[in-house]
Amino acid sequence: MPDLTVSPEEASRICMKECRAMCCRGPIILRLDPDEVTGFYRLAADLGTEARINRTADGGGNVLFLDQERECCPMLDTATSGCRIYDRRPRVCREFPRKREPGCPLSEHITPEPEPGQTP
Ligand code: SF4
Ligand code: SF4
Repeated sequence: MPDLTVSPEEASRICMKECRAMCCRGPIILRLDPDEVTGFYRLAADLGTEARINRTADGGGNVLFLDQERECCPMLDTATSGCRIYDRRPRVCREFPRKREPGCPLSEHITPEPEPGQTP
């Protein structure tokens, strides 16, 4: 999770209620690191769903949301807009957003970078 000016609870509210998890739906590709692919398959199976992953040359994988059964991340709870594997979500999910992003209300609450010469 990036450094935010809001509490984790408020961040969850923004993602689930205000945004409705728009980065977990639609024409987006979730990039998996090589050491995340097997676990992602297993976690999906544990949830009774299927993850369709396109393997990449480096051993990682791409999850194209529009190719999935519900046209969203297979880990998304579409009723609540919550992530069903939140504590084990992939690295790119944990690190997003890193900067202001269009269409991402949470990114408006990223702790500003210190000015040059300013002590963080
Ligand atoms: S990180 Fe941004 S785009 Fe993703 S669910 Fe939260 S507010 Fe929405
Ligand atoms: S793993 Fe969770 S946080 Fe990441 S895209 Fe899927 S539903 Fe969203």
